[in-house]
Amino acid sequence: MTNTSSETFDYIFIGMGASNCLLLLAMDEKDVLRDKKIGIIEPSNKEVNDRNFCFWSSEKELLSLKLDDLVSSKWQQIKVSDREVQSIAPLYYYHIRGIDVYTKVKEKLKVRNVIYFREEFKGEPIVASESFIIPLSDSKITANKVFDSRPPAYESAKKNQSHLLQSFFGWEIKTDDYEFDTSNVGMMDFDIPQSNYCQFMYVLPFSTSTALVEVTRFGKESITKEASKKLLEDYVAQFSSSYQILEEEKGVIPMSNLKISTLDYGKNWVYTGARANMIKSSTGYAFHNMAIDANRQAASMISQQTFERKKSPKRFNFYDRLLLKILEETPHHGKKIFQYLFKYQSISEVFLFLREESTVRKELSIFSKLPILLFLRAAIKDITFRISMSSPSSLAFVFTIFSLVLSICNLSLIMWGFLVFGFLSIGLSHGALDHLTEKTIKGPKQLARYILKFLVKGALFGLLWFLQPDAAFIAFIAFSAWHFGQTDFKEWNFKQGVPSFLWGLIVLMTILFLHLTETIAVLQQIDGLQIHQVFKELSSDQILVSELSIVFLSLLFIAYHRSKNMLLTFSYLLISTALPLIASFGIYFIAQHSFHGWKHLKNDLKKSNYSLWLQSLPFSSGGALLFILLFFVDYKNYIGEFFILLSCISLPHVLSMNHFYARISSKNKKENNKI
Ligand SMILES: Cc1cc2nc3c(=O)[nH]c(=O)nc-3n(C[C@H](O)[C@H](O)[C@H](O)COP(=O)(O)OP(=O)(O)OC[C@H]3O[C@@H](n4cnc5c(N)ncnc54)[C@H](O)[C@@H]3O)c2cc1C
Repeated sequence: MTNTSSETFDYIFIGMGASNCLLLLAMDEKDVLRDKKIGIIEPSNKEVNDRNFCFWSSEKELLSLKLDDLVSSKWQQIKVSDREVQSIAPLYYYHIRGIDVYTKVKEKLKVRNVIYFREEFKGEPIVASESFIIPLSDSKITANKVFDSRPPAYESAKKNQSHLLQSFFGWEIKTDDYEFDTSNVGMMDFDIPQSNYCQFMYVLPFSTSTALVEVTRFGKESITKEASKKLLEDYVAQFSSSYQILEEEKGVIPMSNLKISTLDYGKNWVYTGARANMIKSSTGYAFHNMAIDANRQAASMISQQTFERKKSPKRFNFYDRLLLKILEETPHHGKKIFQYLFKYQSISEVFLFLREESTVRKELSIFSKLPILLFLRAAIKDITFRISMSSPSSLAFVFTIFSLVLSICNLSLIMWGFLVFGFLSIGLSHGALDHLTEKTIKGPKQLARYILKFLVKGALFGLLWFLQPDAAFIAFIAFSAWHFGQTDFKEWNFKQGVPSFLWGLIVLMTILFLHLTETIAVLQQIDGLQIHQVFKELSSDQILVSELSIVFLSLLFIAYHRSKNMLLTFSYLLISTALPLIASFGIYFIAQHSFHGWKHLKNDLKKSNYSLWLQSLPFSSGGALLFILLFFVDYKNYIGEFFILLSCISLPHVLSMNHFYARISSKNKKENNKI
């Protein structure tokens, strides 16, 4: 029945496939549909058996999910791969025909107030205050609550994500001369040509003469009908020479951990089924999950509580990511992995694991028996990628805690190793790319002029240290604060100016003032500097009040900006007061500031990390050489002179980066204006 109504519906179901059917059954069972006006938008008449659903469950659970009358076959014995037949008691492996689900729903709905819209919903809803207006092909309908099961669309893949397909093609056959053993079902029989894929057979015997024989492939490309037919013919020929094909089943299920792209229309627009990520990415099973979800949703409607969907524990997402990556990159290893999985544990244990109901201990034991090197390699890649995606502030936070642990264990040498490596690599390198940001450098002449200017600026600042050390010190703090604030604010998308300068000042004050004794000790090594005398004369009470003021004002500043990254940065700066001054500064400078700066340069210059590093090499090694030379020339006053040299090479870099940030912000403005 089609309709051109503009009526209001209590519930609209977009799609009448497995998930919405299970939900309708659960809602009907719990009497949630009584006196409600229901609309179903579905292009198909749902009159063919378009899929068979299998899942494992206990009889008790099946009864509680009210699915028992739908089951057409069940087995308590399973033969997986090349292993002996095993009992999975108290579980059963159940089979439900899709058509039986759709028919039952239609029967149940006959006594309800339902209108079917035989079409695809293609548009977007208009969200009104308490309802949704849904534009259909020749009408607009209003819905108070919507269950949307349209097939999902996916966002583009991140490096550690995969999008594979579980494709299958099967025949329900009737044999003339062969008797199937109906006591057990055959799963994952890898005894078929792999052809560089991961593919296997299922045999579901429905009676002694009928069975569904299906070939399944996990991979980037789905299996073709021709390839499947050849494999099926060869496979069936092993046990029967003559048979008839009663039905064909084919399908493709996404095995994906990409983010599903959906819009949030509020709590009354509920996504269901595959669109709600109900398909377990590493197996393609969803039916059991959807049945539980449907029952929970229906129960929450009776109790009028907001429905909170159960999320998978994160570790299972991690395991799934590893397996999918291995199957994506080296599909031929699939056979070995699944054979090992079922070789060393019982099928019931594997089923528990796949249903995400196992314990961490059991999971460790399972992984220890899998081809561990494959998983370790995938795990290292996954973890490295995730670390590289974390914000530098989080990395710096983690490194600070790590350094504290090292220092407690008297292993600070390791921390210093990391810091020296960081300073000589990204620390110096991020400041050695200034020549690339100057768009006017086109040849060796301009480069030579640029280097000369760089050196002159540095030398002039050195002269200021010589003539007016206190003024040079204040200028160094001021331009460093400007630069640190500018880089962090750029990364966090905050407006530049006085606030970014204040942020830079907070960073420096927290590092320097909260290590006051060490700061004074460094400043004492600078010839002619007097400013530290002021701090030396402070009483311990005055120091405490100043420290508390810095913390309090900084927290106010952070609260005003409501920035998680700022809070994270400030937290690790506070924690790092338990480390030496140089370590505290080094962590911020290397793990946060230099990373931010490097990222901005990389994005603008559109070069790889390696190519940037190569281009920074002449200048960073020049800088490193200067620091080393200085050590040999005057190692007694090294700390003070290191400080001065650092400031002299910092000034031209800060000026150059200031110019760079101004240029990219005006470029962004122009691009935004064009849009
Ligand atoms: C062939 C096959 C076999 C499977 N076997 C198993 C199994 O054995 N065990 C298991 O656990 N899982 C299995 N799955 C995985 C999963 O259980 C199913 O994919 C399940 O059907 C997902 O439910 P769903 O409601 O999200 O999608 P569907 O059941 O596909 O329902 C979506 C419905 O939305 C309709 N629709 C599509 N677009 C629109 C639109 N724009 N507007 C309105 N309606 C629309 C479709 O016609 C369809 O009826 C199988 C999947 C397939 C494809």
